[in-house]
Amino acid sequence: MFENSQHEKPILGKVIVSAIIHCHTGLHIGASKENLEIGAIDSPVVRDPITREPYIPGSSLKGKMRSLLEKVLRLPPNRNGGTQKNPIWRHECDTKDQAKNCKLCRLFGSTGKEGGGNWPSRLIVRDAFLTTDSLKKLEEIDTGLLYTEWKWENSLDRVTAAANPRQLERVPRGTEFKFEMAYTVESKDDLEEDLKNIKTALKLLEMDYLGGHGSRGYGQVEICNLRCQVVRIKDGKLNQFEPMEFKIEEIENKFQEGEN
Ligand SMILES: [Zn+2]
Repeated sequence: MFENSQHEKPILGKVIVSAIIHCHTGLHIGASKENLEIGAIDSPVVRDPITREPYIPGSSLKGKMRSLLEKVLRLPPNRNGGTQKNPIWRHECDTKDQAKNCKLCRLFGSTGKEGGGNWPSRLIVRDAFLTTDSLKKLEEIDTGLLYTEWKWENSLDRVTAAANPRQLERVPRGTEFKFEMAYTVESKDDLEEDLKNIKTALKLLEMDYLGGHGSRGYGQVEICNLRCQVVRIKDGKLNQFEPMEFKIEEIENKFQEGEN
């Protein structure tokens, strides 16, 4: 049967959300060790390959927001994201029809099972790069590393009780990143709930941690200066509103104006 995906997922507009991520403690988002030279730091942070600046991948932010929100929404964990031996259970709807009505999957997307169809994410989370101010400050620090610092961390081998000291690279506390997300408005009925859940996920992130070694104090972040820009799409035209504070009722109003 002919399937019209345009009608299945209409676009009523976008809400471009912006904020500053302020690191209250050192941040470690690990890079793969594949491209490291011998003698390099044990556990490096992820960097932009061109500028060499540390950044926060959108996938890290989105994954963390999703997993935190999943627990609060109390959705049944049905997928194993780990291995058979070390299963990591999480929730993901099996069909796109389920996903459409699922508070988590309609926002963060789902991959269907057995022909159930994929549900593309309504929320796009961009990579977060250093603010100009932070970049300037980090250029001036003298740690022997570019824009970062390193710290010795000790872990005990649980079998032999032998200490296993290693060097962890981290972005120093006080560093700030520019954060942006784009939310696609597909249904006015879901708008309020979706925006509330985005806000909740950001609050949960502040109470949790970003990156690795959170239980050792790493990755405590604050989401500052939360703002948004609403773009309404009507009759094939884009109507861009002035940037504003992230206030759900006011965002909703932008999609009600001129409607009866
Ligand atoms: Zn779901």
